[in-house]
Amino acid sequence: MNQSSSDFHALVASLVGPPSEIGSFIGSELVTGSGAMLPLVDPATGQTLLQFADTDAGIVHAALGSCQAGQKQWAAFSAQRRGEALAQLGHLVRRDAEPLARLEAITSGKTIKAARAQVAAVAEIFRYYAGWTDKFLGNVIPVPGGQLNYTLREPLGVVLAITPWNSPIYLAAWNVAPALAMGNAVLLKPSELTPLTALALAKLAREAGLPSGTLNVVNGLGKTIGDAAIGNPITKKVVFVGSTQTGRAVNAAAAQRPISCLLELGGKSANIVFDDADLDAACRAAVVAACANTGQNCAAGSRLLVQHGVYDRFVESVGRAVADYRIGHPLDETADGGPINNRAQYERIQCMVAMGLDEGARLVTGGVTPPGGPGFFVRPTVLSHVNNTMRIAREEVFGPVVVAIPFDTEADAIAIANDSEFALAGAVWTRDVARAHRVAAQVNAGLLWINMYRDMHVATPFGGNDSSGYGRSSGAECLYEYTKTKSVWLPIAEGD
Ligand code: NAD
Repeated sequence: MNQSSSDFHALVASLVGPPSEIGSFIGSELVTGSGAMLPLVDPATGQTLLQFADTDAGIVHAALGSCQAGQKQWAAFSAQRRGEALAQLGHLVRRDAEPLARLEAITSGKTIKAARAQVAAVAEIFRYYAGWTDKFLGNVIPVPGGQLNYTLREPLGVVLAITPWNSPIYLAAWNVAPALAMGNAVLLKPSELTPLTALALAKLAREAGLPSGTLNVVNGLGKTIGDAAIGNPITKKVVFVGSTQTGRAVNAAAAQRPISCLLELGGKSANIVFDDADLDAACRAAVVAACANTGQNCAAGSRLLVQHGVYDRFVESVGRAVADYRIGHPLDETADGGPINNRAQYERIQCMVAMGLDEGARLVTGGVTPPGGPGFFVRPTVLSHVNNTMRIAREEVFGPVVVAIPFDTEADAIAIANDSEFALAGAVWTRDVARAHRVAAQVNAGLLWINMYRDMHVATPFGGNDSSGYGRSSGAECLYEYTKTKSVWLPIAEGD
C-alpha cells in the first residue's frame, strides 16, 4: 500500500467504517452486498482504491422498510426539533469538512479547492432547510358556505434520491435536505462510482440525532437498485439527478406505480456574448462556464454563442485562457481542474472531440490527445467554426469542451440558444440592459445569468425544462415537491 492509498483507507475508516465493510447504510449499520464486486477507481491514477459488493433487491427492500419506520419517528418530532437536528447535521459537516473534502476529491476527481467549497455548501444547505421546517405553512381558504376550510402540508413518506458522480456529497445534500426538512425519510442511492461520501453523510445524520432509518444509503448498480426501489410501494417519490437517458427510464418505471418524479438531467447551455459586452469579463466567465469541475457540470456553458463582429478575437482569447487552465492532481492545491471521474467518460470525451473535428469544427486549443501519464486527464478544449446542427453542438459532452458558434442578430442568438433538446441554464453578456432582459425572457432555460455565469445558492430554484428534466430542486419552491396537501373542512356557521 503506498502513502496515498493508506491515507485514503484511513479517511474511509474514520468517516465511514472499515473499508472491507463498505456497502449500504441501513439504520445505523453498514451492510455489505452479495452481488458482483464493483471497483472504486482513483481517477488520478486509474488504480482500484477498494472494491465493494453490489447490493441486491433484498437489501433495497430492507433499507426501505427501515426508512418507513424511521420516517414515522422523524415526522413525530416537532417541526422545531427537526430543524435543530438538521442544523446540527450542518454543524457536523462543518466539523468534518476537511476530511470530507479530501475523501470527495480523491474519489470524484474534483480539486480539493472545489471539494472544500462544495462541502461548505453542504453545511449551508442543511442550515437553510433547518430554517424551513416550521415555516412552510398551509392556508385558510375563504369558502362561501359558512365552513372552515384549511390545508395541511404533509410529508410524502419515503423519498428515493438517485444521484450521479460529478458532485456526490453536494448533490446528495441538495436533494436529501429539503425532503428531510418536510418530514420525509430518504433512501439515497449514490452513483456506484462515488459511494463513500453519501455513507459519511448518513453516519453524521445519526450523530446529529436523526432517528435510525431517516437517511439510509444503498450502494450498487442502478439496474440492481432502480426497479426494486421504484417498484416498492414504500417509495412515494423519486428525485433523480443524472443523464437524460436514465431519467427517461426512471420516469417510465415511476409512471407504472404511479408516483411522481423530480428529474434533474443533462444540459447544453448557451452562453451568449454580444459584441457590446465587457469582453474581458465574458472571457473569464466563459472559461469557468466550460471548465469548472473539468466540465462535468450539468449547467456548463458548453455552447458559446458569439456575435460575428467580435467572434474571431473573442474565441482566440477564450482559447488562450482555456489553454492556461491548470489541470492537476485532485489534491494539488493549485490545480484549477482535476481528472475526469471515470474511464468510460474519459473515452467518451475524446470520441466527442474527434467527432466534432470530423464534422468540420476547428481546434482552437486542447484536442483528443491526453496529456499523458496515468489517470483520466483530458485537455480542456475549444472548438470554433461550429454550427448548431453539428452533433458536437447538440449532444452533452460532460467534459471541458466548449463549442463556439457565431451569430448575427439578437433574434439569431435566441433562435440558436433555443434550438436544443435541453433547457437547463444559460447566460447573456451585453451592456444593453433592455436587451439583456429581452434575451433572458426568451431563452428556454430554468436558470439564466446576465453578465455572469455559474453562481448558485440553495435558496434559489434550480431545474430544467424539456430534456433537462422537470421540477425545481431547491429554494422554497422545492418544498412543494416533498409535501402533499390535505384540504380539511368543518362547518362553523351558527344556526341549523
Ligand atoms: P447516469 O444517468 O448514468 O447515472 C445517474 C444515477 O442513476 C447513478 O446513481 C446510476 O447508478 C443510476 N442509475 C443508472 N441506471 C439506473 C436505472 N435503470 N434505474 C435507476 N437508477 C439508475 O448519470 P451519470 O453519468 O452518473 O451523471 C452524469 C449526468 O448527470 C449528466 O448527464 C449530467 O448532466 C447529469 N447531471 C444533472 C444535474 C442537474 O441538476 N440537472 C446535476 C448533475 C449531473
